[in-house]
Amino acid sequence: MLNREHIFSEIEAHIQASAGERFAVLVLRVPGLREISLRFGYAQGEQAEDMAQTLIQHSLRPIDRVFRAGDDSFVVLLPAMLSYNHALLASTRLIQAFEQPLAGTASPWLVRPVMGIALFPEHGPSADRLCRRAGMALDEAQRRGELCVVYQPHDTQIEIFYDELREALDANRLQVFFQPIWNLQENRIAGAESLARWSSVNHGEVSPANFVPFSEQSDLISVLTRWSVNTTLRHVANLPRDQNLGFAINFSPRVLSRPGMVEQLIGALEIWGVPATSVIVEITETTLVNDLDLSVQVLRRLRDHGIRIAIDDFGTGYASIAYLRQFPATELKIDQSLVAAMHSEPHTGKLVRAIINMAHHMDLATTAEGIEDAATQAQLADMGCDYGQGFHLGRPQPAAEFIAQFIAAGTSR
Ligand code: C2E
Ligand code: MG
Ligand code: MG
Repeated sequence: MLNREHIFSEIEAHIQASAGERFAVLVLRVPGLREISLRFGYAQGEQAEDMAQTLIQHSLRPIDRVFRAGDDSFVVLLPAMLSYNHALLASTRLIQAFEQPLAGTASPWLVRPVMGIALFPEHGPSADRLCRRAGMALDEAQRRGELCVVYQPHDTQIEIFYDELREALDANRLQVFFQPIWNLQENRIAGAESLARWSSVNHGEVSPANFVPFSEQSDLISVLTRWSVNTTLRHVANLPRDQNLGFAINFSPRVLSRPGMVEQLIGALEIWGVPATSVIVEITETTLVNDLDLSVQVLRRLRDHGIRIAIDDFGTGYASIAYLRQFPATELKIDQSLVAAMHSEPHTGKLVRAIINMAHHMDLATTAEGIEDAATQAQLADMGCDYGQGFHLGRPQPAAEFIAQFIAAGTSR
């Protein structure tokens, strides 16, 4: 088997020889190959790996080089790629090649490749960087359930460096934005959701969709959550007491099972003098919970203190129903993908209506996320949806601005 050093030295040699000419590195995984070994034996598995390699080589140009990188993965060097589209064309040919079951195995076995592509020179100057970035694009393809993704600095899990985020958190350089949550039935403001914003020196505006999952993979998620709780409550503390507003804070399910979570949140409420009933803990259902039983216990304790619990992004992840069964939730946030589609797709509208009814049967309040126009707002209000959030009702804005506006509106009343 050819090893990484060999692949890297071949790519490096190509970089030297190509004199700056554009080429692509494609990393390809065929997850089904491993299953062939496990089901039919290693000899069959190896035969299938050889066949996959031949198939890859035959569906490409003679100048393209295919290297075996592991049991089910390959690295392909695609020289002289004049454009991004050339690389996509190669990936389309590879996908087509695998549309037939692999012949020659004990029983014909259908396997599907997944691939990521990085281009020289724009995505990296070295073999190491190109392979890593093609690998990141491949991870992104797997995450999205697609067959091929070209590396995009802004949408793959970008390489936010640990130290940089840690330092930004320590130096309090992240910001909290508040997005209004609207009471759809009474047509008045009901509170806001707290959303983190990071303006990084090296990466510009980094979306929480990038840095939150990154933080979840390390201890940074605890630091981020602590920061988010304290900063949110610090702003909320500036409001006059009798506002009857709810402030939602996002909690990664990963932090729920960390020791001391409840104490930290309760402690912060005491420090800032914010009543527990003004806080809603939002749990996203798209991230897997490490320890469901422990998370349920933690949420129960939060509930016992009077804190509300919302299941965020309901209807997109795999865990929706499991969460609904087990979490002591008080509300359910209907994901924006459902809300955005309900106007143009009548059956999605029916689904949203059914979710609202189901939630009400379970004594859960409902919030629709991502309301972008008046028609959707009216439709949801009509369906009995309790709360709404979205660009039509108010974009996320700096927390201090939100609070100042609120105070100004109150004093002018
Ligand atoms: P989320 O909790 O579901 O937050 C709603 C997201 O939808 C926000 O994205 C918001 O800006 C966006 N949004 C709101 N209204 C609309 C609309 O009408 N149309 C569209 N297209 N989008 C809308 P954002 O701020 O990028 O946050 C993404 C996710 O990152 C959040 O999703 C939340 O899960 C997570 N997140 C944000 N801040 C924090 C934090 O401090 N801690 C943790 N653990 N997660 C956070
Ligand atoms: Mg949320
Ligand atoms: Mg959401």
